[in-house]
Amino acid sequence: MTRRTSDAVVIGCGVVGLTSAIRLAEAGHRVRIVARAASPHTTSDIAAAVWFPFRTERSDRSLGWATASLAFLQSLAGDPAAGVTLVEGIKLLAAPAAELPAWHAAVGGFRRARRGEVAPPYAGGFVFTVPVAQMPVHLAWLAARLRALGGSIQTGVDLTPPDLERLAGQVGTVVNCTGLGARELARDDTVHPIRGQIVRVAPGHATRFVQAAPASGEAVTYVIPRPDCTVLGGTTEVGRWELDVDPSTAAAIRARCEALVPALAGAAVQSHAVGLRPGRAAVRLEVERCGDGRVIHNYGHGGAGVTLAWGCAGEVVRLAGQT
Ligand SMILES: Cc1cc2nc3c(=O)[nH]c(=O)nc-3n(C[C@H](O)[C@H](O)[C@H](O)COP(=O)(O)OP(=O)(O)OC[C@H]3O[C@@H](n4cnc5c(N)ncnc54)[C@H](O)[C@@H]3O)c2cc1C
Repeated sequence: MTRRTSDAVVIGCGVVGLTSAIRLAEAGHRVRIVARAASPHTTSDIAAAVWFPFRTERSDRSLGWATASLAFLQSLAGDPAAGVTLVEGIKLLAAPAAELPAWHAAVGGFRRARRGEVAPPYAGGFVFTVPVAQMPVHLAWLAARLRALGGSIQTGVDLTPPDLERLAGQVGTVVNCTGLGARELARDDTVHPIRGQIVRVAPGHATRFVQAAPASGEAVTYVIPRPDCTVLGGTTEVGRWELDVDPSTAAAIRARCEALVPALAGAAVQSHAVGLRPGRAAVRLEVERCGDGRVIHNYGHGGAGVTLAWGCAGEVVRLAGQT
C-alpha cells in the first residue's frame, strides 16, 4: 500500500496537470486537482495529439522531458483503454536536412525519406513511428488512473493570484499547471496564445501521419490518423485569442491536407475545433516563493504538452521533494 506523506494540490486538469498529479500520487502524496474545467473543455482535448516537439523550446532539458514522455507513451500503446496508438508517418521538409533531429535515436524506425516519398514543393523528409493519443479518451484514462491512486478532481474552481498565495501558505506542495491561464494566475504576460484550428474528418482515409514543415511564411500542414477521426491541421497564429472556427481557414486546411494526402478527398467532416496553445519562450518548470509558501510552476508547453508532460511530471516530483 502507498504511504501518504504530504498533501499536494495541482491546479489545472489538462494533460500537464493530470500527469503531474499522477506522478505525485505515485510518489506518495495525497493529491487533489482543482481546476476551472476538465475534459472535454481543455486545450488538451484539442491536441492532435502526436508525440513531436513542436512550438516549444529546443534545449537539453526539453529533449530529456520529451524522450521520457515518449518512452512512457510507447509503453501505453499496448493498453487499448489508454487511447494511445503507435503510428508511422513522415515529416516533409522544404529543403533536405543536413542534420538529423536531436530526438531521432529515441523514436521508432527513424530513417530519411526515400525519393518516391517526397514530391515538390518538398525536398526531403524523415520517416518515423511515434505515439498518437486519442484525446479525450486518453484524458479520461489519466483521470481514472489518478483516482485509482487515491487522488481527487474538483472542477468549477476559478483561482486568482491571491488564492494561489493562500493555497501556497496552507498546502505543502502546490503545482501550477494552468497552461495559458498562468498568464493571469501567475501574472506572467510572457505566456501567450498560439491559436490552432483543426478539422476532424472520418477515420480510415489516411494510414500514416504527415507533417509538412512550411517554407517561411506558410502555414504548417498536418494529417494525423487516429482510431476515432483523422485530424487535419493547422494554424499557428501567435497572439490570436479568437476561439470561433473560421470557415475560410477550415477550407484552406482541408485543401492543403488533400494536396498532401489525396485519399482524404470526400472524407466526411466530423467536427471543427480551435485551441489556444500555451506559448512561452521556454516551459516554466521551477519553484517560486509565493506568500508564506512556495509554488511549483509547470506551464507554457506550447505545441508540445502531450510530448513533454510525463518528463515534466517527473521533474515536478523531484522539485516537490526539495525543501
Ligand atoms: C490544434 C492543436 C493541436 C495540438 N497538437 C499537439 C500535438 O500533436 N502534440 C502535442 O504534444 N501537443 C499538441 N498541442 C498542444 C497541447 O494541446 C498543449 O501543449 C497542452 O494541451 C497544454 O496542456 P496544459 O495541461 O498545460 O493546458 P490545458 O489543457 O489548457 O489545461 C489547463 C488547465 O488549467 C485550468 N485553469 C486555467 N486557469 C485556471 C485558473 N485560474 N484557476 C483554475 N484552473 C485554471 C484549465 O481549466 C485546465 O483544466 C496542440 C494544441 C492545439 C491547439
